This record gives sequence, C-alpha cells and structure tokens, in this order.
Amino acid sequence: MRIIRAAKVLTGRQGEVIVDGEVLVDGSEIVSVGPRGSAGEAAEVVELPGHTVLPGLVDAHVHLGFDAKVDPVTRRSPESERHLLLRMAENARKLVSAGVTTARDLGARGFLDLALRDAIEEGLAVGPHIVAATRPITLTGGHCWYMGGEADDERAIRRVARENLRAGADCLKVMASGGMMTPGAAPSWVAQYTTEQLRAVVEEAEVRGKGVAAHAHAHAAIRSAVEAGVTTIEHCTFFTPSGHRFDAELADVVATSGTYVCPTVHGVMWRAREVYGPEMLDDWLRGIASMREAGLRLIAGTDSGFGAAGVDNPTDGFVASLEVFAQAGYGNAEIIELATVLAADACGVGEVTGTLAAGKWADLIAVAGDPLERLADLRNLALVLVSGRSVTQAGVDTVTASVG
Ligand SMILES: [Zn+2]
Repeated sequence: MRIIRAAKVLTGRQGEVIVDGEVLVDGSEIVSVGPRGSAGEAAEVVELPGHTVLPGLVDAHVHLGFDAKVDPVTRRSPESERHLLLRMAENARKLVSAGVTTARDLGARGFLDLALRDAIEEGLAVGPHIVAATRPITLTGGHCWYMGGEADDERAIRRVARENLRAGADCLKVMASGGMMTPGAAPSWVAQYTTEQLRAVVEEAEVRGKGVAAHAHAHAAIRSAVEAGVTTIEHCTFFTPSGHRFDAELADVVATSGTYVCPTVHGVMWRAREVYGPEMLDDWLRGIASMREAGLRLIAGTDSGFGAAGVDNPTDGFVASLEVFAQAGYGNAEIIELATVLAADACGVGEVTGTLAAGKWADLIAVAGDPLERLADLRNLALVLVSGRSVTQAGVDTVTASVG
C-alpha cells in the first residue's frame, strides 16, 4: 500500500478539489481518495508538497503507427510491420512520458495496435493503456484505405467490423467522410457512407458492448453519424469546399444527441498558422469556441502521428493541445475535465479510469504547481502511474538509449 500526498488532489471533475489531500494505492488500484490522514497508515508514503495530483491524461485520438511527419501517406516505401511496431512502441513511450495514461488509437494497420496494447499491459513495453480501433472502416480507395479496412456495402462493412472485433478491437472507427491525407480519396467535405451503413457499424459494435468513432468533416457525415448513434464524432470541422462553415442548427442536433465530439485539437496551432496563414486556422479555432457555446460535449484528442495542417504533430504534444482549448475560451478546470473524465468516458473506459476514485485503476500524475492556476504546470511531471506502475524518467532514458 502506498499513500501519495499532495497540496491538492483533483478528482478530474470540475470543482472537485481536495486541498492537502491523499490517494491510497494498492497495487494497480486506487483504494481511497480524501484529505490528509483519511487513508490511515501505509508502508510507503510519498510526500509531494507544492504539487497537484490528478488523473492520468487521456488522448482520445492518436495514431501510434505514424511518425508525426507532414505526409506519412504518400511516402512510397511502406514500412515493414516489424519496424512499424517498434515505432509504435516508441510513440507510446513518448505519450506516457507526457502524462498520458490512456490513449485511443483510431487507426493502425496489421492489428499492431493490439500487439502493442497487450505488450504494455504485460509490462513488455512502456506506454499508456491503449483503446484500439485497429483498421478504420472506409471505402475502397477511400480515406486511410491503406490500413486495410476497405468496405463498400453493408455486408462488407459488417464483415470488416466483425473481423476487427474478432481480432480484439476495443472500438470501431469508421470514415464517415473523406479526409485530407489520402491522395485520390474523396475530399473531406464529401460523405463516404449513408446513415444506414453507419448504423450497421454501430450495431456490430453495440452487440459486443463497444463504441464507434466516426471520422466526420462534412456536414452530411456529421448528421448521419449522429443519426446512426455513434459514440464519438472525430474532427467535426463542418468542412465545405470553401472551408470551415459552422452550422448552428447541425451543432444543436449534435448537442441534443449527447454524442461526444473529439475536435482533434493538436498543439501545433501556432506553427500551422505560420505555414497556412491565419484565416483557416482562426476559422477552425472559432469553430471550437462555437461548439463549446452550443453545448457540445468536447473531449481532448490530438490526432498525433498525423501531421496537422501541414505541420509535424508529435505524440508528446498533448499539453500544448490543451493550451489551444484555453485559446478557444475554455477554463482550466473545464480543460482538465475534458482531458480526463470526459475523454475516458467517451473512449469506453470511464468505469475504470479517468477520475481518482476508489476502485479505479491507479492511473494518475503528480505535477509541481497547480494546473488549475497555470495549465502549463501539467508539464512539470513528478510522477506518472499507469495501473500503479511508475513510469520513471530513468526507465524512459533506458528505453531511448536502447532504441538509439
Ligand atoms: Zn485520425
């Protein structure tokens, strides 16, 4: 048993702050959370004065199988799966070293995300818990077809969904609209599937208790995804041939449905603005502010691995992505909530992680300072626990050295 004591303990939910608090951890689980002295005695006491303890961060949208470069798709020498798996392990290490203790991987080929997920849980690799979607379901030649999930009609869609779930997928990903990163595929303002086809994906997931993430830029795709009952809408950029066009009526439909929205806010906003000019990025940021005002349930997720708007988007930029939410008008407590409890819930793991509470996995971080006052303090990591296992800097250096 171990007591972790700090100046502040945040449970993850807005307004739940324990001043001079402590968390009692037994192995991989949290036993209790309360004020100093509430946990009784323990063999080990970690005193962290001047620090804040909070739930481990949750990145609801990553691609561990990409190298953060601008154009991972058109490089013409496909990486071997053996090499790719090592890259994914290194990306997972970077993620957890930034305080991310759960990540939802929304597209990988060869079921490599499952191999990595299991290796991390066994202690063979260093990384966060992974919620794996495996191969995204997409049209033949459609957005991200090269990950192996092509399906053009309902029968084929159900087949790919079932194969993914048979292999061990934790959720399903469907490309409801085109995208920006696949040469020759439909553009992002075009829907790839009908509502009925998306409903087939939802049905396949639901009977096994899993969720569905729908990639949707286009207005029609966002609407169909909500009608089909997906769990999360990814990107939700309200994209048209002439750029981002926020639609208040459609936003209201999304808000009323309660569907989670992961607007894939990445931390390279300012660099992207320099490259692409202010207009497109400012429209995008305004869209995120508008979604907040319209009452949509937004969650944190970076799309890291994929370059964002022409700029490298590395897996360890999670805190920078949260600072972009602040630029869009979010308060710090609100940001911590959407990066912990709400993101965990959206990823289907809200029962076991995302808040500090008795019975949950001991997924937590401790940072010097107070991120409620200064969000940047989330970078001052003093402790990262994943299911009670400490990710130490020494361990990280060892891994880096062995990779290098
Ligand atoms: Zn993505």
